[in-house]
Amino acid sequence: MGRIYNFSAGPAVLPEEVLQQAAADMMDYHGCGMSVMEMSHRSKMFQDIIDEAEKDLRTLMNIPDNYKVLFLQGGASLQFAMIPLNLMKNKKADYIVTGQWAKKAYQEAKKYGDVVAVASSADKTFSYIPDCSDLPIREDADYVYICENNTIYGTKFHTLPNTKGKDLISDVSSCFLSEPVDVTKYGMIYGGVQKNVGPAGLVIAIIREDLIPETVDDTVPTMMQYKIHVDNGSMYNTPNCWAIYICGLVFKWLLKNGGLEAMQKRNIEKAKILYDFLDQSKLFKGTVEPASRSLMNVPFVTGNEELDAKFVKEAKAAGFENLKGHRSVGGMRASIYNAMPKAGVEALVAFMKKFEEENA
Ligand SMILES: *Cc1c(COP(=O)(O)O)cnc(C)c1O
Repeated sequence: MGRIYNFSAGPAVLPEEVLQQAAADMMDYHGCGMSVMEMSHRSKMFQDIIDEAEKDLRTLMNIPDNYKVLFLQGGASLQFAMIPLNLMKNKKADYIVTGQWAKKAYQEAKKYGDVVAVASSADKTFSYIPDCSDLPIREDADYVYICENNTIYGTKFHTLPNTKGKDLISDVSSCFLSEPVDVTKYGMIYGGVQKNVGPAGLVIAIIREDLIPETVDDTVPTMMQYKIHVDNGSMYNTPNCWAIYICGLVFKWLLKNGGLEAMQKRNIEKAKILYDFLDQSKLFKGTVEPASRSLMNVPFVTGNEELDAKFVKEAKAAGFENLKGHRSVGGMRASIYNAMPKAGVEALVAFMKKFEEENA
């Protein structure tokens, strides 16, 4: 069997060229007689891999010199604790709760200080992004936290919140490298890479230097101190070498294909094909308010659970994988990350049209 169209929310589709390159490198990376998985992280060869990955990421995102780039483990979920443990200096932080991942981050931070949800979209099952132009941000809050693209609910901040001068911390796991970003608007941007960038188990954190404390409370585990990872070039312990290498290949693929501006253009085109279809369909319906729609994750329903299940089953048989919605939302969700070709979205829409006709 050949490749299918994989609409998984994560771990997710990767560019075929990257997979082919990894396959070609597998037995003998650059003439060293072994794969990247087998080499010492202290070797020059691996140092070159991580240095090049960081350099290419800095180019892609135009990351200023006063921001550190860290390659960490523990998933985006470990950052839910690392962020308050390192950055909540006054022990106060304000969170905007727009979905499950933001809620988890908020609940975790509450363990460590005075943490308030200054806005939420829970009242309408997280189907929109609240107006964040004039929130009651506290004078002495250390930071304002958002989840920029809500993977499960399919919403996205198209305008960043007015943080009233506080540092913005953003979880960009599911929109990482999907469009250009102005890094200077953030104190920290981070994301698990398994959504739009690489294999699971690696988180990239981009943090403004002056936010990283020299010392933290003695009880904070060594592995959870940003300063330790900065001082050790993300190699305090053995890093996720393989994932860093694959991300490096993806960065090169992005650079070769026009960078983040080109990705944004492609992603807008791809999402439009699907949203335009949903907006005129008599059977399928998008679940998100149009102004808050994500370009990456597109949830939709028929309004009938049996029909949803039938659709997912028939779609799978036709080569469209992982269209079942998140267990907390039901229905369907198509994740159409950078590596999903436009042809995949067109084929999905053609399949949905046919299903609609057959089930009218
Ligand atoms: C998937 C996801 C996470 C959790 O990532 P893990 O690597 O599994 O911890 C956090 N935030 C967002 C926005 C996600 O999509």
